[in-house]
Amino acid sequence: MTKIRHVLGISGGKDSTALAIYLKQLYPDLDMEYYFCDTGKELDETYALLKNLEVFLGKKIAFLNEVKNGTPPFDHFLKLNGGYLPSASARWCTTKMKLVPFENFIGDDLAVSYVGIRGDEDREGYVSTKKNIQTVFPFRQNIWSKEMINSLLQNKNIPFMQEAYQNVLAGKALAQALEVAETPISMRFGQPTKLNALLSLSTEAFNRVMFAYLQTIDSVIGKLDSFPLVKNEDNLNKDAIFAILKKSGVGMPQYYTELEYEIEGQTGIYNRSRSGCFFCFFQQKIEWIWLYEQHPDKFWESVAYEKQGYTWIESESLEDLIKPERMAQIKREHLKRSELKLKNSKSKLLMDIVPDESEACLACFV
Ligand code: SF4
Repeated sequence: MTKIRHVLGISGGKDSTALAIYLKQLYPDLDMEYYFCDTGKELDETYALLKNLEVFLGKKIAFLNEVKNGTPPFDHFLKLNGGYLPSASARWCTTKMKLVPFENFIGDDLAVSYVGIRGDEDREGYVSTKKNIQTVFPFRQNIWSKEMINSLLQNKNIPFMQEAYQNVLAGKALAQALEVAETPISMRFGQPTKLNALLSLSTEAFNRVMFAYLQTIDSVIGKLDSFPLVKNEDNLNKDAIFAILKKSGVGMPQYYTELEYEIEGQTGIYNRSRSGCFFCFFQQKIEWIWLYEQHPDKFWESVAYEKQGYTWIESESLEDLIKPERMAQIKREHLKRSELKLKNSKSKLLMDIVPDESEACLACFV
């Protein structure tokens, strides 16, 4: 029998952590391998979370990047990049420290990669372009990648879907599913409409049809004898993720803890909104202030990188950012924005209104 690996990347963020817990609880028979692409520049809270998670899982998480001759992975690659700091437009860090190590970890093996994109997010997550790695998203109602959906829902596959649905449904449910499955995709009936209609009629039936389809083409999941996630009908949002973390005892990454700051007699609340390197250029200015006030050692370490002539934030150095009047301005603006957002939001929790990970890195913040 072909050996197929099941792998789950832990980023140190809440969603990938919750996914590891969720899959272990629901599908204990999946022989999951966990990995973490260490940059050597994560917050201590992230390493603490990984330790807690290992205890819960009863398994080691493989650390994929090595410290070479005492040099942390980030510093090693920074040197190779001529000291040129990564940025949103030159993101060598993700490729070198996340994607390449992951693909090397898999090599030529066949693997199913499980990714914790939530049901309330509008992003696809990192999907490997390597044919031997197939990605699924168990927190979404649609667990399949765009590539798999595009392949199955081609109009030429309508006869296949007719037959496959007949094998998984009967009676009225079958008639309803066939009506949708037999309708070709057109300008008036787009692929998302067709997909949503089939998923709402029966997610499990759609998953079974997809699995049957994957068995007819050259695909990793199709080589499995069975795929337990076909039964998965969940669609989990942020609240559900928090509940999984809390109930398991693993808890939230500590950097999410909401802390108070004072500004001109008013109290604001800040925290860090995502995992990844403590100097990540994707963070908001208020998060840099959080780093300065809560982890001064890490802040000054970040400043030291700027000495080479590059800055983490476009057109502003970190030393300028912490000048008293600039810090006050950032806090004032943050407080104003938070109040406005809270007013327009049903939730009263800051963590529910901070910008989501969707605008940033698909490999680092899951
Ligand atoms: S967390 Fe930010 S700096 Fe670190 S590897 Fe990811 S994108 Fe790059």
